[in-house]
Amino acid sequence: MPVDRSVSIIGLGLMGSALARTFIKNGWKTTVWNRSPAKVDLLVATGALGATTVTECIEASRLVIICVLNAGVVHEVLATLDTSSCIGRNLINYTSGPRLRALQTHEMAMRLSFSAYLHGAILAPPELLGLPDSPIYYGGNKAALEAMGSDYSILGRPVYLGDDPALASLMGCIMMDSFFGLAVGFLQSVAVLKSSKLRAPGAAERFVSEELVPISKNYLTTLRDFARQIDNGNYLREDGRGMPLSLLTKTLQNMTQTHSENGISSTLFDPLLKLMQDRVMKGGGNEELSSLVEIIPVGSQPL
Ligand code: NAP
Repeated sequence: MPVDRSVSIIGLGLMGSALARTFIKNGWKTTVWNRSPAKVDLLVATGALGATTVTECIEASRLVIICVLNAGVVHEVLATLDTSSCIGRNLINYTSGPRLRALQTHEMAMRLSFSAYLHGAILAPPELLGLPDSPIYYGGNKAALEAMGSDYSILGRPVYLGDDPALASLMGCIMMDSFFGLAVGFLQSVAVLKSSKLRAPGAAERFVSEELVPISKNYLTTLRDFARQIDNGNYLREDGRGMPLSLLTKTLQNMTQTHSENGISSTLFDPLLKLMQDRVMKGGGNEELSSLVEIIPVGSQPL
């Protein structure tokens, strides 16, 4: 069946506008609606068709995309619709939110008689949308993605996780955990740099290009080692490799002293130091940092 290259987009914030521009650039007939009409006008000037109501927008295409502030707004917008407008259409929701909200939106979409509901978690800022390295995680009815034919990857690298819509939110959270963890380490590094005799104009950018970029491969090798240890459930150091928790704990304690001498707080690292000390006290001193994954869970059921 030939692909129906028409799409309706509800919500023209930073991300919704970027989604619309990407479809327009790829030759799709793109109909848009936004609460504030000025953003509709901007998109119309670049080739979109403007709708004055949500219903008019939805009825223009078989594929409907919603990307608004949060799940509460998604529900507000969907609550204005009648079944007759939604029947036979596919809904993809790129609005971020917790997994429970994804499930509620799925139920709401089914009550409205959308034929497929897919939840998408975009892991890129608007300016990187559409690049092959920008992942988008999907959970829900794959038919909505398949209806895009070979254009299913124009928004980025699609990763389909399964028919549970909540899986997209979950993977989005997992990826952002890594991002925030990396960002915390980076911010602490630069705060110390800025507070020290090493500060200079452009020092933070030089730190990234001259120090972090070259060492990043070594960091990834270490993370791969950690991943293998976690998969095998064996955190003891292999011969001649890695660093024991007993040593790393002392290293972090020394670092906190350097932080304090430079007038920098170590608050961001306090929870990590506490976990390391707990593990060492319970006999894990010869294990690697990866073993902390065992003491992060608090006993809830897997999501
Ligand atoms: P944004 O620029 O703040 O835009 C918010 C959008 O929601 C606007 O279209 C806004 O309409 C609409 N909206 C807010 N309240 C509304 C209401 N009560 N009724 C109807 N529409 C309402 O946000 P964004 O950056 O586009 O983000 C949209 C979603 O994408 C969020 O869930 C965000 O987490 C996700 N996301 C964003 C990024 C990013 O880097 N920007 C990355 C990944 C995922 P008005 O224009 O009328 O205010």
